[in-house]
Amino acid sequence: MDINNLWRDFLKIINEEIGSRVVETWFKALTFSSWDSQAGVVYLTVPNKFVKEWIISNYQNLLITHLSRLINSPISKIVYLQSSGDNNVQITPAIKIGQGQLVKQKIERGKESNLPASYGPSIIKGHINPEYDFINFVSGPTNSLAYAAARAVAEKPGLLYNPLFIYGDSGLGKTHLLHAVGNSIQQNKSGLKILYQTADRFVGEFINAIRFDKVNEFEKLYKEIDVLLIDDIQFISNKEQTQEIFFHIFNTLYERRKQIVFTSDSLPKDIAGLADRLRTRLDGGLVTDIQIPTLETKIAILKKKSEQHGEQLPDNVAQCLAELDVNNIRQLEGLLVRLYAYAALTKREIDIDLAKEVCVNHTKSAIKLTLDLNTIGTKVAKYYSYTVQDLKSNKRLKQLALARHVAMYCMKRFTDNSLNDIATFFKKKDHSTIIYAIEKIEKLKLSDNNLSRDLAQLESKAFRE
Ligand code: ADP
Ligand code: MG
Repeated sequence: MDINNLWRDFLKIINEEIGSRVVETWFKALTFSSWDSQAGVVYLTVPNKFVKEWIISNYQNLLITHLSRLINSPISKIVYLQSSGDNNVQITPAIKIGQGQLVKQKIERGKESNLPASYGPSIIKGHINPEYDFINFVSGPTNSLAYAAARAVAEKPGLLYNPLFIYGDSGLGKTHLLHAVGNSIQQNKSGLKILYQTADRFVGEFINAIRFDKVNEFEKLYKEIDVLLIDDIQFISNKEQTQEIFFHIFNTLYERRKQIVFTSDSLPKDIAGLADRLRTRLDGGLVTDIQIPTLETKIAILKKKSEQHGEQLPDNVAQCLAELDVNNIRQLEGLLVRLYAYAALTKREIDIDLAKEVCVNHTKSAIKLTLDLNTIGTKVAKYYSYTVQDLKSNKRLKQLALARHVAMYCMKRFTDNSLNDIATFFKKKDHSTIIYAIEKIEKLKLSDNNLSRDLAQLESKAFRE
């Protein structure tokens, strides 16, 4: 799973739960560095001790609850890595350009930032994913225009389509193409400064720049770039101040004939809360889309991904996977990974029977889509020998309260409903009770064997009946 996407989903959830102010002030200051799924440890990078302590005392449980849900495995610990060793030094946000990983410099508080001499071209290193190149990208009827345009732009940056705007649904290869442009230009050794950046990172950095009074440097750094690759520009919607500065950066780069490529989940005209003049700019070059792949493209992608991992996927297996109702390539890849993992675990050859078994599991794991609040309420109530009315009541019997909390927990876990929806289901005024319940069950299930058995039975049996 892509860490950036995961973190973005996490931020969306938090945004929904406790509001954008907290997200902008605290969570955007964090970087999701990595996780060790076996040990159940998540590594987050924090800018300083202050943020770390605040997060621990206020949001630790939220982090654990939602991250474990998104990662789909329990988290026992969060390790906070501090991006600067002691409290008197900080990383200057303005040079944290590009995923925050590339140029890290300690700068004493109050002193001017002295950028490393090698800043510039070196900024491209480390955050353009070398695996996403044109060779690995399968072009088919539903992405050929975007593919051709991206290739053209990579060959003659700034000269042909500027900006290039690629839009389409999630998991269809937009980010891949964007990296491919970066990789290709990088391989040409033209010495051009390339920057890949997601729009939400851009927003986050901008807010940091404001917070640390580094807006000028922030703007200057962006304006020095030769090829700017901005992923998921829709995340800039409704961020007026960020749009304003982005507009200036865009104009400068555009006037200097620097190449800009955007991806988005929708057309410029459909991005809500976008200032008109920015919309016009985004619309002003070549706008092209990527649509759901055809069966043949899906098969070709599956085979190519297998080859990349040194495997040969039999034709009929590729066909079997491609025929599933999965159009998101990311999910399709997930199935492929699962297939290989399953084969390794069971020490079996990859063949059509194995593929079918994995596909059946896949359909089962779609449980999330088929459960609604009422079904979960009914099934949990029945499991504990109560009725849904009991669950919705204010009665405080110990066992009933437990059943109620389990239901709340399962609703959050197995549906996409918001906390507010769940609160409404239980006729609660706000969702704090729900958060409390989820946190309680999360904690309790680690130590209470009866509870973990109940949860496992609900998930593996009751919810599937
Ligand atoms: P998006 O940015 O549109 O959500 P991504 O670019 O992240 O999608 O693609 C998701 C996954 O699917 C990536 O691993 C990518 O390599 C793969 N993928 C998507 N389209 C193609 C394609 N045409 N050829 C090869 N791989 C693809
Ligand atoms: Mg993407």
